[in-house]
Amino acid sequence: MSKKKFKTEVSQLLHLIIHSLYSHREIFLRELISNASDAIDKLRYLTLTDDQMKHLAVEPKITITFDDKNQKTLTVMDNGIGMNEKDLEEQLGTIARSGTRKFLEQMEQEKKRDAQLIGQFGVGFYSSFMIADRVEVLTRKAGEDTAWLWSSTGKNSYSVEPSQREEQGTTITLHLNDEGKEFANRWQIEQLVKKYSDHIAFPIFLEYDKVTWEGEGEKRKEKVEHTSEQINVAAALWKRPKGELSEEDYHEFYKSLSHDMDDPLFYLHTAAEGTLEYTTLFYVPKKAPFDMYYADYKPGVKLYVKRVFITDDEKELLPTYLRFVRGIIDSEDLPLNVSREILQKNRILKNIQNASVKKLLSEFKKISESNGALYQEFISQYNRPLKEGLYSDFTNRETLLELVRFKSTEREEFVSLESYVERMKDDQKAIYYIAGGKEDTLRKSPLLEAYKKRGIEVLIMDDEIDEIVIPSIGPFKDKELKAINRSGAAEDLKDAGDEKKEQEAKPVVDKIKEALKDKVKDVKVSSRLTTAPACIMVDEHDPTVQMQQMLKAMGQSDDTPMIPILEINPEHPIVQSIARTDDKQYAADLSAILLDQAYLVEGVMIKEPADFVRRLNEALSKTFTS
Ligand code: ADP
Ligand code: MG
Repeated sequence: MSKKKFKTEVSQLLHLIIHSLYSHREIFLRELISNASDAIDKLRYLTLTDDQMKHLAVEPKITITFDDKNQKTLTVMDNGIGMNEKDLEEQLGTIARSGTRKFLEQMEQEKKRDAQLIGQFGVGFYSSFMIADRVEVLTRKAGEDTAWLWSSTGKNSYSVEPSQREEQGTTITLHLNDEGKEFANRWQIEQLVKKYSDHIAFPIFLEYDKVTWEGEGEKRKEKVEHTSEQINVAAALWKRPKGELSEEDYHEFYKSLSHDMDDPLFYLHTAAEGTLEYTTLFYVPKKAPFDMYYADYKPGVKLYVKRVFITDDEKELLPTYLRFVRGIIDSEDLPLNVSREILQKNRILKNIQNASVKKLLSEFKKISESNGALYQEFISQYNRPLKEGLYSDFTNRETLLELVRFKSTEREEFVSLESYVERMKDDQKAIYYIAGGKEDTLRKSPLLEAYKKRGIEVLIMDDEIDEIVIPSIGPFKDKELKAINRSGAAEDLKDAGDEKKEQEAKPVVDKIKEALKDKVKDVKVSSRLTTAPACIMVDEHDPTVQMQQMLKAMGQSDDTPMIPILEINPEHPIVQSIARTDDKQYAADLSAILLDQAYLVEGVMIKEPADFVRRLNEALSKTFTS
């Protein structure tokens, strides 16, 4: 027998599970059944694709037994793929995905430590330690002779030793603790299976001693009979007609599919008949999956062929930007023994995918038109992935442009480009936005003043991804999208008086240029500033300062500093002081102050704050003494 230590993360996790998860302990059963079902899925797939496994005639079955008399145990047994020694170590001794750390972090913050969360993080097995003080896993991998017995009390270590098991599969025995005793009970188990696992595709049997009475009067006596009874419906819910299914049916199925504790935001059930025959059932979770922004996120859609599970680990079933969607694709046309490599190039699957994306997007569109509140809730979670779609999904760009939402100077809630265009002034040339920074900073930008004065709405793009996506999308309904902190947009606001203003300001512009030298690309007279003395802009195709900082933080940019264009307001007293003075040093100091403060307003750290403060103090002193 060998004794092994759990990896640190597993130990931490177990400690947390044993000591601080109190509510919904009963979900351990859902998790074990879900693992049993996964194991049978995997084996069925192998018997179809692997010649060595073809002879295994599996009649899929999950069996639950319990002992409520002496031992107080509960057992969940399956005839699925099983595990060998290496699997045990990898699956039940370490945690491969990044789920655990995230789970631990989330739990630290949570006041109400709810066990329901656990399944989503891919650590469901360990939930058995909430109700058991010892867990044994007797398992034999399909195609192998040796069985293994894994055993642990959940405290730092586990043991593994060779053992016996008649056929392939896994038996998990829970030695129930005080909190767990109540689960060694027929009614409890039946009720929990109904609640959480009714729609598992395989039959779940409960074995128990049935007590009947025989005979009459004096001769009447108890007869105990060991029976086995199926306690779930075990039907592929998605194959049943919509009319037969209630909202509750859909919701319960969602929960067992996704391990989510909330109902979904909405769902979409489609049966396609025609050249291709397939069924899809898609759900959008209320809250974005925790791993939505992880590279190793777990895909949420399972592929079935004629109700036989094929894979749940295929990231290409839907495009990456729809990775938050949960659900099922079940095809009648794909061959059952389709291998994963073939899948990726399969034409049938491609067609199903394309149609599914269209269906999903048009459902989103429908909701946006018919149920504003629901759509805002949807957008609060999934705006960003949809924006990713703008640059990754060319075919559906039109629809995606209608679906994404933005913050705006004119509205409290998110607005669509469509509604922006409807509100545009008659002579307005473009859709204006400001990007590159936090919402607060952007909303305070001095550049907005001019737009506000003219009643022009500006979109506030504070999402990091905006700066990458928006420049690539081209016009919307023939209207160009223009960033107001880039040089191009400035031209649009010029009017007749501006040319004269420019001519008059030429001397001061030259003076500032001379003072700032190569710290600026150019100095321009602003048609847009009213109260602020100056602001910085970037040349049409340069990255913004914030974007450069971001790239730098990601290690993707060298140190060449971004050189901005300085836009000045000739009516401002500071600029007028520069124009008036003959003191070269004073003019240079004031010019440097203009540039530095323009950086600061943008939320960008200036390089030499001490110099800035010195210049500022000198300038202020001059004002006080003059
Ligand atoms: P998840 O199911 O999300 O992967 P779990 O903690 O529930 O996370 O299970 C961890 C792993 O242990 C599974 O991925 C699987 O490889 C293995 N496992 C658990 N139960 C069984 C079982 N009954 N049969 C075969 N493998 C199992
Ligand atoms: Mg699991």
